[in-house]
Amino acid sequence: MTTNQDIIDRDLAVLWHPCTQMKDLASLPPVPMRRGEGVWLEDFDGNRYIDAVSSWWVNIFGHANPVINAAIKTQLDQVEHVMMAGFTHEPAVALAERLVRITPPGLNKVFYSDNGSAAVEVALKMSFHYWRNTGHGEKTRFINLTNSYHGETLGALAVGDVSLYKKTYEPLLLKPLTARSPDCFHREPGVSWAEHSRACFAEMEALLAEHAHETCAVIVEPLVQCAGTMRMYDPVYLELLREACTRYDVHLIADEIATGFGRTGTMFACEQAGPNGISPDFMCLSKGITAGYLPLSVTLTSDTVYDAFYDDYENLSAFLHSHSYTGNPLACAAAIATIDEFERRDQITANQALIQRMRDATAHLVDHPHVAEVRQTGMILAVEMVKDKAAREPFDWRERRGLAVYRHGLTRQALLRPLGDTMYVMPPYVITPEQIDHLAATLSEGIDIAVST
Ligand SMILES: *Cc1c(COP(=O)(O)O)cnc(C)c1O
Repeated sequence: MTTNQDIIDRDLAVLWHPCTQMKDLASLPPVPMRRGEGVWLEDFDGNRYIDAVSSWWVNIFGHANPVINAAIKTQLDQVEHVMMAGFTHEPAVALAERLVRITPPGLNKVFYSDNGSAAVEVALKMSFHYWRNTGHGEKTRFINLTNSYHGETLGALAVGDVSLYKKTYEPLLLKPLTARSPDCFHREPGVSWAEHSRACFAEMEALLAEHAHETCAVIVEPLVQCAGTMRMYDPVYLELLREACTRYDVHLIADEIATGFGRTGTMFACEQAGPNGISPDFMCLSKGITAGYLPLSVTLTSDTVYDAFYDDYENLSAFLHSHSYTGNPLACAAAIATIDEFERRDQITANQALIQRMRDATAHLVDHPHVAEVRQTGMILAVEMVKDKAAREPFDWRERRGLAVYRHGLTRQALLRPLGDTMYVMPPYVITPEQIDHLAATLSEGIDIAVST
């Protein structure tokens, strides 16, 4: 019978893993997964793990979900893939119709790609190209937030701000204008999230006032900067930003690749801004869109943007961007089944109880001497481990204490992969309250172990 070690040996001989110092794997080898079911993953030695991080935030309805499996199998017998230039197919059309209906008003056109970074590249290129097509070639810059993350390809990396991923490649990257993130971890004691986020907006307003004439778009991750260690902010910032982008004639790109599909408690984070939610000019979606099954992403935009490209061919104003697997039918079928499941299960409502359970199960951690903050936005809950609680002084990053929590989790049936010293739970929505309690207990034990050396 195949064992974990068999797979590990073969893996290390030929594979180069993402976001990994490969030398680390000599002491902490990759865990070979044999099968999944619901929140559970099982390795070749028969150990089981609750997928507390939804396999990098993509999984929504559990592994090997029968409904989504069936949708893909049905589509597989129709057509597996067909090019989308000159051709079309029903799943691509039906999914686009559904996305237009469930996203904020005004996002009426859907452009497909196959990963989140590509969806961001599309938004950046479309925004720039829109301004060129409408006689504003002087608009060439983008405004982003500190600690933001928008993907790893060069354009997406450039508009991000996580130096761990970006610094090496800086000479290759376009240079955004960067405003301070409304990240509420940095608020003064006694200041509310809303007050802090509102105060941070002054810097964005100033950047727009000075640079709007040369700026295509502002790009943000609504409410949660996930890769930036799950830092969170108040929806009032999005409300102010929408209003200012309109006033300064600059596009707003909402990167909901991580926050979309219910992660923040609403279907999309943009819904929480203001009394009625906001509509960005571009919305990027991926990750949860296929419930974690297949690579797919979309960039949604408005009729106004679309119309600025709609012209006689000779005028060469078309958006000539493409990827081979654009609008893959299997991925579209998985995405349609995902949206069906949200509706059939009334999942956004059902999640409210899970959100409360996550809050209750981790509430005691606030008093832990090495926990600076327990923060939560909807189905994302993060615990920030520090050396000195009062001063909020982090541990030396070289000590890699978050990894100790991860190692402990693996011994307790929990896949809790941290971001540095920030531990988080961002589970599939089929998790049970008891499983949430187990994750919280494992987190507490892991933190105790991690800080005790
Ligand atoms: C994951 C992520 C991306 C990049 O998506 P990939 O599919 O990994 O390229 C972009 N933006 C945000 C907010 C993300 O979380």
